[in-house]
Amino acid sequence: MPLTAQHAAAGVLDATVDPLGEGTPWEAIHRARPRAPLTCRECGHGLHAKLSPKGLRFFAHDRAAPTCSLVGETMAHRLLKLQLASAIRDAGWYAELEVAGEGWRADVLATSPDGTRRMAWEAQLAQITVDELRERTARMEASGVPVCWVTDHDRPWIGAVPAIQISQPTEPSQAAATDAEVVDGTSVFRERWCPRRRCENDGGAPGPCPGHGWWGPVVPAVGLGVLVAGVLAGMVRTHQVVPGRSVTFLPLPAPIVWTTRPHVIAERGQLDAGERRREYDELADAERERHLAAIAAKLARQQALTPPAVELVRREARGYVGVRDAAPEWAMGVPLFVHDMPQGVISPVVSRISAEVLERLRGLTLFVATETERRALARACGSEQRIVLFEVEIPDQPRPPGVTYRRAGRVR
Ligand SMILES: [Zn+2]
Ligand SMILES: [Zn+2]
Repeated sequence: MPLTAQHAAAGVLDATVDPLGEGTPWEAIHRARPRAPLTCRECGHGLHAKLSPKGLRFFAHDRAAPTCSLVGETMAHRLLKLQLASAIRDAGWYAELEVAGEGWRADVLATSPDGTRRMAWEAQLAQITVDELRERTARMEASGVPVCWVTDHDRPWIGAVPAIQISQPTEPSQAAATDAEVVDGTSVFRERWCPRRRCENDGGAPGPCPGHGWWGPVVPAVGLGVLVAGVLAGMVRTHQVVPGRSVTFLPLPAPIVWTTRPHVIAERGQLDAGERRREYDELADAERERHLAAIAAKLARQQALTPPAVELVRREARGYVGVRDAAPEWAMGVPLFVHDMPQGVISPVVSRISAEVLERLRGLTLFVATETERRALARACGSEQRIVLFEVEIPDQPRPPGVTYRRAGRVR
């Protein structure tokens, strides 16, 4: 049951405008005697003008019609086509109904005022597979006609092809384009950042915030007329959401949404922030590895220095040498004790020598393995400090924990 018909004399008639075409008013064909010479543009069968109980004009096939794709169209389908046509006309574009193209037929074809741009709006109320819609979308785009599929139901292909879902008002009227609301298929990027862009949200790890924004529904919903005008004006465009960090409300990894440029820019901002965060984390990992390597090197140095240091202290202090654990109070150096009195410290860490530690080191012997270490310690402790350098062989890796020199007797 189409909205357009072929008139033998007047050409194509469009039931959604007045006059219907070439100066033919509705009254001239509706219940006219003799009946108007009308045929279907799709199948060529006879048509007659009809009025729905709610006052919507359309054409119905005469009895015994052949199989025609326009026969099955429901009232809801016709109403939606009418709404789309009037929204297009309100936006200042031309709207033609049921237009045949190269391998496709558009429900409503919008043409820009200067005739250079075309776009199809399809009322797709019946079930259809995603693959079929993708194929039809590609076929129309190949003719330079982008398309938006419009449904009034939850459909799995919303987001898979350029599409919107509308919600009709409870009492749809003939001129109700603006009353229908777009409830799905449109999206805005909702930015969310941690305070001062320092992340407090990403597992509590400190560092630059990668952003916690997402593609959400448009609230409150826009009217169908507003959306159609925005799309035709080029303000609202399709955007393929970048999968990964920017999570969406649509149950697809990378849905196609209708949105405006500022939201695409906001998504870009989050993707860039995510990149910066990854770089930061990589750097922090490298830093941590360097730190661990420095600790391991220090441990290996201390282990290598322990035997000669213990031997020297044993000789000078004439007593049993106790090797204790490296501790902050010895600037992470290994202290050597004789009769409970500290005698020396093996390889303390220069940066850990506080004024308090410095006081504690006074009069003790410090043991180092390299000239660099000796000079750094001398600078930190002053020329009075006794520093002994042993040129020991330092292994690449420290011995595993557990093998320690608790007693001087085990050194030799
Ligand atoms: Zn037909
Ligand atoms: Zn954050």
